[in-house]
This record gives sequence, structure tokens and C-alpha cells, in this order.
Amino acid sequence: MSFDYDLFVIGGGSGGVRAARVAAAEGVKVALAEEDRYGGTCVIRGCVPKKLMVFASEYAGMVEDAQAYGWDIQPGAFDWDAFKGKLHAELDRLEGIYRNLLKNSGVESFDQRAKMVDAHTVELSDGTQKTAKHILLAMGGRPVWPDLPGAELGISSNEIFHLEKLPESILIVGGGYIASEFAGIMNGLGVKTTQFYRGAQILRGFDDEARGLVAEEMQQRGVDIHCGTNVLEMRKEGDKIWVKATNGEERLFDQVMFATGRAPNTDNMGLAEIGVQLGRKGEVIVDDYGQTGVPSVFAVGDVTDRVNLTPVAIREGMAFVETVFKGNPTPVDHELIPTAIFTQPEMGTVGLSEEEAAEQEPIEVYATSFKPMQQAFAGRAERVLMKLIVSKATRKVLGCHIVAPGAGEMIQLAGIAVKMGATKEDFDRTVAVHPTMSEELVTMKAPVRSL
Ligand code: NDP
Repeated sequence: MSFDYDLFVIGGGSGGVRAARVAAAEGVKVALAEEDRYGGTCVIRGCVPKKLMVFASEYAGMVEDAQAYGWDIQPGAFDWDAFKGKLHAELDRLEGIYRNLLKNSGVESFDQRAKMVDAHTVELSDGTQKTAKHILLAMGGRPVWPDLPGAELGISSNEIFHLEKLPESILIVGGGYIASEFAGIMNGLGVKTTQFYRGAQILRGFDDEARGLVAEEMQQRGVDIHCGTNVLEMRKEGDKIWVKATNGEERLFDQVMFATGRAPNTDNMGLAEIGVQLGRKGEVIVDDYGQTGVPSVFAVGDVTDRVNLTPVAIREGMAFVETVFKGNPTPVDHELIPTAIFTQPEMGTVGLSEEEAAEQEPIEVYATSFKPMQQAFAGRAERVLMKLIVSKATRKVLGCHIVAPGAGEMIQLAGIAVKMGATKEDFDRTVAVHPTMSEELVTMKAPVRSL
């Protein structure tokens, strides 16, 4: 049977674009459909604009620190319009790069929605049908709103990059990556920021001591965090949003942002109809090779709701090409993935939290918390944390947790050692780089706890 293409990719985000490009480089005939902007969540409405906003929000504090270091400079006002203009010009530039990468690698792109018709056929929104030997689902995910009266008055992280003007006050609902990162961003930009989280402590799932320090430092910097609190009801009151909380409080905010989780983009895609199995959240169920129960259909990235991170989607896309087009079946290794949460302060983490490791085996905990030199000199009270979780039996470092400025950069490097199976003694054999914060990772002599 002959097909229009060897591969049809649905979704032009990190995973889909990488798979399409790498496959095309192997001489495979590839097409890709994207209904929105190329680059996907990470480039257009996630990691990239978020990180640029983190940078923007950190400058007020830097000016104060510079004064403490003897500079005669005064903080000015933040110009949201000027920043927003530059931000969107940068996103346009990046989207152009993504489009060109596809074009230059010979991938045929359709700026349309595509849905499945059968195991080898997709239908585009203009009604044309295309056939392919293999189909890769890479549609990503989208924010979900809680079901409560007035929720439609709130925005999600998709809209925050397009605000007409910065609000004077904002309520951020949720305690995950997105909520906690935007709480820091808004606070840094001078917006009076409140965060409601329904659980006992934000950043559930991360090391308790590390997330406790992040929460404490965020509060020190001015984020008004209310744990054990959720929104009951919202309504418009003049140009503000009235919010009734589960703790009985009623307050007015200029803006409410929900960061209450994300759902895979699998609605109305014809997937269940052709026999592709979907999970409870609508995620595409795949095996270790990204293959669905329909042999010609594979999936990568957030649409599979495994580890929802861009570098993981990219790995999955490349493993798919190895498996299907290079005759080299390659499962994706989801173990020991380093990650950073761009809260203020930043948190970098790889491996098991103290709580997870202690459930699994006897461990030693090495940790130190201190005032870093640069900030202490500037008169800031902020503290950082360096923490290693060590197996008593094998001496391997099972987890590394860093809360500090630049923790994302640090954990990338510590992640190599942990991934290689380094022991505590390997860390100890490494000479410290002085004076740095991360030198503490190789100089902690005695465990603070043995569990
Ligand atoms: P998360 O799933 O991490 O967090 C969702 C938060 O919303 C949780 O605190 C959850 O509470 C809360 N929540 C869920 N439903 C409700 C509800 N009905 N009412 C109130 N609160 C609710 O999702 P995010 O949207 O923050 O992030 C999605 C994913 O994107 C992350 O898991 C991560 O993989 C990725 N990401 C990565 C980043 C990075 O690498 N720096 C940055 C941003 C996102 P509870 O804990 O009780 O369930």
C-alpha cells in the first residue's frame, strides 16, 4: 500500500518538531500539522516567555543590591508595554526559527488542525485527507480551570503574557510549578501577589525541606501564600474580581490566575474511535517506545502525560525516530531527570526526595542551609539550601536538592554525577570551587540525619 507520507506529525511543539526534523534528515517523507503557533507550549506560552519574565522581575532586587555594593543608582518604574513588545518580538523570532527548521529539513507543514480518521489517515480542517505509514501524536496539553462559579473571570498562564496592563493585585490559584513561578514573577514586578494552595505546602512532591524553604523565602519577599485555602466562588465587582475563599475570607483582586494543572489535548481527535487507548485525564497510553495500541500510531510529549518537560518530549521524539526509522528500538529513560523550578529563589532537583528515599531504604541526609555571600553582603536575610540524600547500603547519592540563585544551572551539572551513580565519597573526592555556594555539595562531612 502506498501512502502520501512515511510520517505525519500532529503538533508543532518541541517533541513533534524534533521528531519531524530528525526523521526528515534520514530521508523520510514527513508532513506536520499545527493549528496554532509553531514552537508549542514551551516556546510560545511556557518556558521561554516565563523565563524572560523571571529575568525581568529580578531587576528590582538587583538595583537594591547594587546600592548596597556602593552603586549610586535608583530603581525606576517597570514599563510593561516596553517589555511585552520585546517579549513578543522575541517569540515571533523563535517561531520563525521553528518554521524554517521544518522547511529547511524538507518537512511539509500544514497550518491546520488535524484529526485521526483511521490508523493511517488524518483529516485536516479544510477537509482534505492525508495518509501516512506512521502517525505521531504530539499535540501537547492545555491549562484546566477548576469548576466553580465565576471561574471564567480568571485567566491561565496562556493569557498572562498578553495582559493589557499589569494588575495592581493578583490572586494565583494552585501550588505547582506554574503557580509558584508566576507568584514570584508577579511579586517581583511589583504586583501585590496572593497565592492560594489547597494543600498543606506548595510544590507537593518535591523534597519537604527544599519546598519549605522556597515557600518561606517567597513569603519573605512579599508573596502572601495561603495554604489549605481554595477559591469557592468569584464574581465581577466593578473592575475588580470578588473572591470568596474556603477560609471564609472575601477579597477583591484585579486579576485571578488559575494554575490548577494541565490536560492532554486529545479531545475530538478521533483517537478512541480508531482504538487508541486514553487514560483517566485523556492522556494517550503508550508503551516504553511511545507506541499506542494501534501499531502505526505513536505519541510523545505532554499528550502522554508522563514527565511533562520539554527536554523529555525532545528525547521521546528522537527515540521514536531511532525506533521506527533507524531500526534501533530505543525506550526513553525517565529515571533521574534533573529539573528546575524557576521560583524566587530557584529550586533545582534530581532524584529522590528525603521522604521518597526513606520509604525505599535506609538513608543518610547531608544538608546545609546558609546565607550566601553575595546576598548577605547586600544585607539580605535570604538563605540557600544544599542537600544530598545518600543510600546507606550503596553510598550512592539518591537525590540532590538545591534552593539558591542559579540552582537550575547547578542541578544540570550535579545531575550528571547523580545519573552516573556517583557515591557520597565521589562527591567528597572532588575539590571544592571556592568561594561558591555549590562547594558545600562536596564539603558536607557529617549527616544531619540518619533514617
Ligand atoms: P501541577 O500539576 O504541577 O500543579 C497543579 C496545581 O494545581 C497543584 O498544586 C494542584 O493541587 C492544584 N490544583 C489542581 N486542581 C485544583 C483545583 N480544582 N482547585 C485548586 N487547586 C487545584 O501543574 P502546573 O499547571 O503547575 O504545571 C504543569 C506541568 O508543567 C508541571 O507538572 C511540569 O511538568 C510542567 N512545568 C515545568 C516547568 C519547569 O520545568 N520549570 C515550569 C512550568 C510547568 P494538588 O497539589 O493538591 O494536586
